[in-house]
Amino acid sequence: MSRIALLGVPNDDNSSYLRGAAEAPARIRAHLFCDAYSTWSETGFDLGAPGAIVDHGDLRFDAATDPWQAIEHAVAQAIGAGDPLVCLGGDHAITHPILRGVRSRHPRVSVLHIDAHPDIYDSYQGNPRSHASPFARIMEERLVERLVQVGLRTINDEHRAQFARFGVDVVEAARCGEPVRLDFDSPVYVSIDIDALDPAYAPGVSHREPGGLSVRRVIDIIQSIDRPIVGADVVEYNPRCDIADLTLGVAAKLVKELAGMMVRNRAHA
Ligand code: MN
Ligand code: MN
Repeated sequence: MSRIALLGVPNDDNSSYLRGAAEAPARIRAHLFCDAYSTWSETGFDLGAPGAIVDHGDLRFDAATDPWQAIEHAVAQAIGAGDPLVCLGGDHAITHPILRGVRSRHPRVSVLHIDAHPDIYDSYQGNPRSHASPFARIMEERLVERLVQVGLRTINDEHRAQFARFGVDVVEAARCGEPVRLDFDSPVYVSIDIDALDPAYAPGVSHREPGGLSVRRVIDIIQSIDRPIVGADVVEYNPRCDIADLTLGVAAKLVKELAGMMVRNRAHA
């Protein structure tokens, strides 16, 4: 039967403005398996079925270990068994060590990154590990075949220079009303920053940027992927900024639909 691995990465050390994203993994996990909500994805995968989820729990950080090494190691272990892996953030900085870990199992992977922000500053506030910089590190280290960023609406000149330097494909939020053609030719990793969504749908983020995507639009884009999805993360949900757990429900829904697409595309791959 189909299985999906789950790993919480409760780290918000590199957030530039507000802490709180580290509290997200436990909340999302509890919501996913709460009796009030369906455990079925739209593609017909029941996350609540016995054995459907291999839950690796939440990563614990200790002062003696570099958190980046801890994340890379935990991801490599979790994905080493061969099941597609969904990571729960945490702020967006964690995607860099996660992708290092993913690479240990999948040397060729393309990234679909859905976000209001490009997160590709060379460094931000003097921190090269900032949650505004993971994709600069990922591209410098050539961890991925291709990077496609969707939903952006905060682009500045420094970002544009980085896009040109690294050959990033960008679909700005203004173009997300049209069909988004992804055309991946390798396995895919999906990184979803919850602030890609319009704050009307998802107010529980540290950086609300109006003019964003609907929940439906993000799911439609995920469901248009026609390659195996080997890994994913859902990051930047900040429970401290949420209103009536609205954003929590969105984050859990996106995890569910990512898992559903991992199973669907693997079955037909
Ligand atoms: Mn963002
Ligand atoms: Mn981000």
